[in-house]
Amino acid sequence: MLFRVPARTAWQAAPKLTQLSRVTTRAPQWVRRYATPSMEQQDRTAIVTGSSRGIGKAIALRLARDGYDICVNDVQANQAGCEEVVKEIKGIGRNAFPFTADVSNRQEVQKMVEASVNELGPLNTMVANAGIAQVKPLLDLTEEDMKRMFEVNVYGLYNCYSTAAKQLIKQGNGGKILGAASIVAFKAFPFLAHYSASKWAVRGLTQAFAMDLATHKITVNAYAPGIVGTAMWDLIDEEVGKMTGHKKGETIKKYSGELIALGRTSVPEDVSSTVSFLCSPDSDYMTGQTIVIDGGIVFT
Ligand code: NAD
Repeated sequence: MLFRVPARTAWQAAPKLTQLSRVTTRAPQWVRRYATPSMEQQDRTAIVTGSSRGIGKAIALRLARDGYDICVNDVQANQAGCEEVVKEIKGIGRNAFPFTADVSNRQEVQKMVEASVNELGPLNTMVANAGIAQVKPLLDLTEEDMKRMFEVNVYGLYNCYSTAAKQLIKQGNGGKILGAASIVAFKAFPFLAHYSASKWAVRGLTQAFAMDLATHKITVNAYAPGIVGTAMWDLIDEEVGKMTGHKKGETIKKYSGELIALGRTSVPEDVSSTVSFLCSPDSDYMTGQTIVIDGGIVFT
């Protein structure tokens, strides 16, 4: 049997429903006065993990040119590279210091954030860039392979996101958090199964952190490079080449030629310019996004 509302009851309810919809469609207070005020400060500071070389180095140098003072982080083995980058940043006229820490170790990350605040002043931006790759057929992966991949690429990023978030909340002025994803966070690559899965987790954490930190005026976004000619791709090129019978340099050339619409292998500066935008006030209304910069491989 159909349930019918008498016309008079509906009419009497109508004004109340109108009022209700007017109330519920209004954005909550914190959304309406939403803004990320970090850029109001003249001197900004950023921590860039894994920045002794490759994409991280390009990001550290670009942010320094944008007016940031930088904490240059990498593992102990790359201390010399960190010092070189610090020297280059000082040459640009900004302050910088090296801090070696393994991002998969939470205490070391906490010490790094503390050191950055002591050395450079309040933190504005965290770029969780450090990452590792490993080329191996899926069924050959050991428990240790899986564990290390997630320790660095997922727990490491989580350590950086959460420690920076706590510092930014304590300071009370909002800020920006960024992480390195990859095109494999949208479509897995052959022989890079656990690496691909770890980058899907980066997208997931980025969305979750964005939602939880929005009320603190902190935006959280990730960048997803494609095929960038760095030490990481030297390794992928060599290892995939061994499995497919290609010589050194042939795999990256083949993938770049066949997959990239714009027809060239990416350079770290293709990525750092987008990261610069994600660290700037121009991206203040973006959060929870993973932005692909790949010359046209994956279309989101
Ligand atoms: P890279 O290997 O040249 O640089 C990565 C840096 O991270 C290295 O200096 C390394 O020592 C550091 N690092 C590794 N583990 C660390 C740890 N536990 N603690 C601190 N530092 C650590 O690689 P890259 O190409 O510059 O990659 C940078 C980021 O971009 C990575 O997260 C990578 O997964 C991602 N990415 C790279 C590409 C590419 O084509 N190169 C594509 C997509 C995503």
